Amino acid sequence: MAAFKTLDDLGDVTGKVALVRVDLNLPMADGVATDLTRARAVAPTILELADKGSKVLLLAHFGRPKGARHSQMSLSMVQGALEGVLDREVMFIPEVAGPVAAQAIDILRPGDIGMLENTRFWPGEEKNDPEFARAIAANGDFYVNDAFSAAHRAHATTEGLAHLLPAYAGRSMEAELKALDAALGKPQTPVAAVVGGAKVSTKLAVLENLVGKVQHLIIGGGMANTFLAARGVDVGKSLCEHDLTAKAEAIMDAADASGCTVHLPYDVVVAKEFAANPASLRTCNVHEVAADEMILDVGPQAVEALGDVLKTCRTLVWNGPMGAFETPPFDAATVALAKTAAALTKEGSLVSVAGGGDTVAALAHAGVTDDVTYISTAGGAFLEWMEGRELPGVAALSA
Ligand code: ADP
Ligand code: MG
Repeated sequence: MAAFKTLDDLGDVTGKVALVRVDLNLPMADGVATDLTRARAVAPTILELADKGSKVLLLAHFGRPKGARHSQMSLSMVQGALEGVLDREVMFIPEVAGPVAAQAIDILRPGDIGMLENTRFWPGEEKNDPEFARAIAANGDFYVNDAFSAAHRAHATTEGLAHLLPAYAGRSMEAELKALDAALGKPQTPVAAVVGGAKVSTKLAVLENLVGKVQHLIIGGGMANTFLAARGVDVGKSLCEHDLTAKAEAIMDAADASGCTVHLPYDVVVAKEFAANPASLRTCNVHEVAADEMILDVGPQAVEALGDVLKTCRTLVWNGPMGAFETPPFDAATVALAKTAAALTKEGSLVSVAGGGDTVAALAHAGVTDDVTYISTAGGAFLEWMEGRELPGVAALSA
């Protein structure tokens, strides 16, 4: 990871206009934000800049308006939620650039917070149009990117602006980049990666990147079935991508070649129907799955062995649940392994970094959210980072 500037590198910013890219794409129901996680994540950066006396101007997208104004996707929809989280007033400005925006910005005093309209109302945002970026930059003195979750997109306010103004990582971006660097950039070894979830096809690039970087690759969830099938196991009615068994073999060969041990479950929890606590539930060896059964979770013996693997490791990166954790008792392996990882992290022997939409939910379900080192809520950006790709929004901060 190349060096980037943080808020610690700011000089005197009193009265200076900070253009701050944040993620305020809050989930909504009936016009009310249902989860304030993203607003809370960017609050420290906003408050720090305001308290340093800059005029803070927020830039964010909201929904997918595809380059046109839609009143239901106005960023003013989240103004109240943000004011609640910050406990400060936020002035909404219904433009993103131009004379109306400039006039409104003039009204702001040092320490005030303004919020510009949904950047995706303008086609120049997603096109990363330099004219559009220049028009926004004209109203600012410096740029802060605090939206790691949007950093995999090269858009005007996530990438373009960084080339036009002095650019800094906000506190949430900084924390994310440091955590990710500690997990896969310059990690303490041995490193274990847990990759689970439904399908191999959605995570091929992740698996291909990880085998060259980690010492232990733990494969669980539905995708383990494809790997088991590649090894000649009959997985019955399980979710399995039979067309990807050759890819799975290639990944296992690449792992062998680079000294990465691949761990597949040797016992599994199966059922004939996918339902909570089904009558047909049983635990068996992977070689004993019947033709009419589905593998829905990793078995208890395998989980114990995987816990022992984690005890030998210093770093863990986790994406994807080990089983169909939304439906009991197929959450058992995910919960048990999460608790082991959390305990090792608390002891100080493991740095644990996890991410992915369902993974975040699974770890919350296991009650370990506060006991792992870092949980990324970034979704797509987190997965692209696990694929080993350079994220344009991050690269631009280091340029
Ligand atoms: P993330 O969002 O964390 O990247 P994924 O979306 O890849 O994770 O996968 C999560 C989904 O995988 C969950 O809905 C879970 O029910 C499903 N899953 C896990 N194991 C299995 C399995 N053995 N069979 C079917 N689905 C599974
Ligand atoms: Mg998912």
